[in-house]
Amino acid sequence: QTELPVDAALRARAGKVIPSGMYGHMNVTLMPAGFPQFYAEGKGNRLWDVDGNEYLDFMCSFGPMISGYANPVVDAAALAQQKRGDALGGPTARMVELAELMVDTVAHADWAMFAKNGTDATSLAVTIARAATGRKKLLKGGTAYHGANAWFNPNPLGSTPEDRANIIDFEFNDLASLEAAAAEAGGDAAAIILSPFRHDAPGSTDQYIVDPAFARGVRALADRIGAVLIMDEVRTGFRLHTGGAWEPLGIEPDLTAFSKAMANGYAISSVVGIDSLRQSAADIFATGSFWYAGAAMAAAIANIGLLTATDTPAQMNRVGQLLRDGLQSQAAAHGFTVFQSGPPAMPFLRFEDDDSLATAAAFTAAAVRRGVLLHPAHNWFLSTAHTEADVAWALERTDDAFAETRTLFG
Ligand code: PMP
Repeated sequence: QTELPVDAALRARAGKVIPSGMYGHMNVTLMPAGFPQFYAEGKGNRLWDVDGNEYLDFMCSFGPMISGYANPVVDAAALAQQKRGDALGGPTARMVELAELMVDTVAHADWAMFAKNGTDATSLAVTIARAATGRKKLLKGGTAYHGANAWFNPNPLGSTPEDRANIIDFEFNDLASLEAAAAEAGGDAAAIILSPFRHDAPGSTDQYIVDPAFARGVRALADRIGAVLIMDEVRTGFRLHTGGAWEPLGIEPDLTAFSKAMANGYAISSVVGIDSLRQSAADIFATGSFWYAGAAMAAAIANIGLLTATDTPAQMNRVGQLLRDGLQSQAAAHGFTVFQSGPPAMPFLRFEDDDSLATAAAFTAAAVRRGVLLHPAHNWFLSTAHTEADVAWALERTDDAFAETRTLFG
């Protein structure tokens, strides 16, 4: 499994016609050696690279896959719409059906809009918040990722200082820092934007589950200063909770951005919002060539139907917990101290004293050579296609991967 000749040939060709051979988060030159760049197929929780190697995948396309690759129910719904047309003269009835479904599924949602990528949805939410408040500033969790536009892109190259002038950082789970950010905004805060738990990536930072007192404080502060509370559920949506992630805490944001897992890999995102922001959402000009296309909407309707038929977040968390428990005892048996954080359905594993991620890189490289796809610097993802038996299969291989990592690090 170390030889990837077809992959290497494709990389050589890509290097000539695609900038740096690959851009963005899927550029595997950012990864330890041994990870494939190009994939041929996915089915259930398995992936096959272009050289025919099979992987049990715990990355789920960085989130979009949630009901298994090539899910027959979702694919049939998308295909049925595609056969009748995808991008047509205007939207199909699927758009109204999906908007009704989002309003039924997410407690605070009184209306829904649709776009394609997560960045579309977070950008729309910010635009609506600014239109509604007539204010400029965004209070944002310092190292959180909300998209690759000029305001939010962690790499400033190609944007101007003016693009970012209206962003004020605060620390997740730290109300004092949010208060300070609000004070700095001085009455000009259009929105607070944050994710339901802290999941900075890439990096070696632990994930932080939200402190309920912080969540209540965020809501109260937004109300006090008249800022719109935007929840970025692009990564978490439908994995933590089938609805808004803070609903179990009794807290509702004003706008929520969804995308990745909505349609099990079909391109769609959504902004949902409360009644009082409906007019501002109507007043801005928002559109995209592919935003009205029916196939992804049909896929989303089918997928959300699957995800809400049973308590799928509980199932993903239960299976994810088995993986977490297994890895924890294996790491200890091989003499490693590891810290696992975040919800079990979106796990992250960090080795002690591994800021350079060298140990994580060695471990995940050893795992991928054994057919288990993990990531050294980004949270992993469970899906409803991952079972207890799959976790047992993975753990047989990660045990060897820890052993190999131990031999490397003495
Ligand atoms: N917000 C969060 C929390 C994300 O994880 C991402 C994507 N990783 C985005 C926004 C941006 O989504 P997209 O890449 O689809 O534009």
